[in-house]
Amino acid sequence: MSRFKVVVTDFLTEPLDREREILGDLADVVALGALSEDEVVGQVADADAVLLYHLISLTEKSISTMSNCRLIVRAGVGYDNVDWRFARERGIDVCNVPDYGTEDVADSAIGLMLSLTRGIHYHNSRQRRSLGEWGYTAYPKVPRLRGRTFGVIGLGRIGTAAALRAKALGMNVAFYDPYVRDGTDKAIGVKRAESLEALLGQTYVLSPHCPLTPDTKHIVNDATISRLPEGAYVVNTSRGGVMDVNAVLRGIESGHLAGAGIDVLETEPPTGSEAFIRAWRDPEHPAHDRIIVNPHCAFYCEEGLTEMRVKAVENVARVLRGEVARNKVN
Ligand code: NAD
Repeated sequence: MSRFKVVVTDFLTEPLDREREILGDLADVVALGALSEDEVVGQVADADAVLLYHLISLTEKSISTMSNCRLIVRAGVGYDNVDWRFARERGIDVCNVPDYGTEDVADSAIGLMLSLTRGIHYHNSRQRRSLGEWGYTAYPKVPRLRGRTFGVIGLGRIGTAAALRAKALGMNVAFYDPYVRDGTDKAIGVKRAESLEALLGQTYVLSPHCPLTPDTKHIVNDATISRLPEGAYVVNTSRGGVMDVNAVLRGIESGHLAGAGIDVLETEPPTGSEAFIRAWRDPEHPAHDRIIVNPHCAFYCEEGLTEMRVKAVENVARVLRGEVARNKVN
């Protein structure tokens, strides 16, 4: 039997030791190391399966050239960088790796929240600039976290893991997620908000954990921020497009928001000319000490990276052996 061909489009390069170990005699594997979709076109025509990481998108342009492909695995959770609808039309299954970082992203969301709400980031940022006024009195009053509400948009895997962590800190947890069935709230002891507005009105720390879809694009915007109580915080470890960071900046500048912890941006990496990024970097800007920005690393730990890589290629091997794909999203 001739060997199948598996193409890794981006991010991973040689040595592809783990992939070869798992695929064995089943398939040859090549890495393109592409930084744009154009570099993929012409390289995937004979691929039986494609492994896509996060540095590029696969659209009709490259998917239409795949004449053998059975499966595209998005090695990661979010699959907004692959046109899964078009892949479906072409008979190609698209799968993700939904669980490699569930706990890690939840830990990061809670870490951002604690750094902001306990004043840890503010004090570190301010005192590093100037040793004068050594102490906490220059910081606006810090309310106790216990008893305050952690507001989750999207009670899926990560939203639930974050909710359970916030509960362990003594917080109340409320969520808005129209797709979650009744009873989940009771099973994990959180409160369902019947509308986004109802969630916002009671939330001290707002943490979206939904995918980026037309419905969730800028779900955190000027209007939603204005419905949060004064002094609220926002953290975003979901997708950059879910939160309008210009609105967040306006919220901080006006004093309505107390701070923001941002792991994901609409343009990654940022160009540096964005107003939000300029405020974060400029020590003279009043929002400077109130913003944390991380380079889309909420998921990152060594074990998680390995799990993502192994589970992605295990699914490819499964399908090439004629078994049913796991975690199909289309
Ligand atoms: P999930 O699919 O388990 O959960 C998403 C939840 O959002 C679901 O319960 C769904 O019903 C809900 N949802 C969908 N549309 C909604 C809407 N309009 N309003 C409210 N809720 C809505 O996904 P997950 O694994 O928990 O991932 C959550 C997010 O985290 C995704 O955006 C994913 O891309 C992102 N993520 C980020 C990182 C990182 O490093 N920053 C890593 C992994 C995942």
